[in-house]
Amino acid sequence: MRILVLGSGAREHAIILALLDEEAGHEIIAAPGNAGIAASPTSSARGSVETIALDPTDPVVVADYAMDNDVELVVIGPEAPLVAGVADALRTRGIATFGPGKAAAQLEGSKTFAKRIMETAGVPTGRASLVDSLPQVVATLDEFGSPYVVKADGLAAGKGVLVTDDREAALAHAAHYLQQGPVLIEEFLDGQEVSLFLLSDGANVLPLSPAQDYKRLRDHDEGPNTGGMGAYSPLPWLDERFGSERAFVDEVIETIALPTIRQLDEEQTPFIGLLYAGLILTSRGIRVIEFNARFGDPETQVVLPRLATPLSGLLYAAATGRLAEHGRPEFRSDAAVTVVLASEGYPESPETGRRLDGLDAAASVPGVHLAHAATAFGPTADDAEPHLVATGGRVLNVVALGDDFAEARRRAYEALGHLRLEGGQYRTDIAARVAD
Ligand code: AMP
Repeated sequence: MRILVLGSGAREHAIILALLDEEAGHEIIAAPGNAGIAASPTSSARGSVETIALDPTDPVVVADYAMDNDVELVVIGPEAPLVAGVADALRTRGIATFGPGKAAAQLEGSKTFAKRIMETAGVPTGRASLVDSLPQVVATLDEFGSPYVVKADGLAAGKGVLVTDDREAALAHAAHYLQQGPVLIEEFLDGQEVSLFLLSDGANVLPLSPAQDYKRLRDHDEGPNTGGMGAYSPLPWLDERFGSERAFVDEVIETIALPTIRQLDEEQTPFIGLLYAGLILTSRGIRVIEFNARFGDPETQVVLPRLATPLSGLLYAAATGRLAEHGRPEFRSDAAVTVVLASEGYPESPETGRRLDGLDAAASVPGVHLAHAATAFGPTADDAEPHLVATGGRVLNVVALGDDFAEARRRAYEALGHLRLEGGQYRTDIAARVAD
């Protein structure tokens, strides 16, 4: 198949590596991609990948390109093109597209929209209030009590959320985001977090294997929220509580995913793409903390390497309304761990343009591969010769597979030891809790 993948992060790199891994031998075009995607090894003799400079958020540009180049499937990685209506433009032209239209993407783009859908569909979630003035903020914070949860309503790349015991900090965060619009105050939900990806064709869903990500910048869940600093999959502790991963996943499908998909369908905004359920397992049951409308980053980097079913068939079946005919995806039992290498200053103000070295040594550790997030070839401040440089906050993901988590973790951190980025930061406790 000729497949156009929109986006430029490690998630898109992981999607492309999974597609290239298939025996079918796909022609992949990444727009715009990154330096790692451009250099992806093609394990399949017939597979190929090229990157093109194209604005993935411009619906007309993307649709024209897909038409002119006989693209058979478009996979939309990040949220920005979804919210911009790129999927709508592609579907209008009859192109199979994995990713919801603008209206259904509000499930991620507007927390208020998501809360309304959940309420109407009877999906279990925490109490929340949308407030648009400081006195209302104060009243609601005091009503819900500490710890306080304050969220910006629109897209904020995972950074608009503050969870804190500090009332003053909660007020300051709310005051900041009130300048842009209403903010959401939520009840704090206590428990383990799980990210579950579900493929949807608008009427049916198929689940992928669950993962857990690490949102905070520093070890022991300290520091600010980020886009995600690491992840692991599967979640062995689900067995204790639910009997098996399958029992857990089935409960989420019945109580959360299908009611949500059906509600969106009823409202004439069918959700075709990846429903990402961000869940907290509270003592009172599973609760949704958020939905996303696309694959999660960095969870994708640990879920897809374990996928034993060809990804292209799943994405195409979802894009063309044929998930009901597709079998449930299968997963290998490997333990997968990913650790994000981030630039100095991330998430507030990442230093960019710094040289990145040691990738060959890192990738030569057994069971390890690299997924690039923000890399490019270019000159550095002290050298006009092009080098691989960091171009953003989250730079690179080390992904390690092992027979168990202890092995996967050892491999991931051995590889990280080979990477060199001045001021680079990463967490040292990813998957530590499952590695003993
Ligand atoms: P979100 O962007 O809504 O996923 O929030 C980012 C992170 O903040 C989540 O992954 C949780 O760790 C935390 N969080 C968000 N909402 C809540 C909540 N209601 N209770 C507890 N933690 C939360």
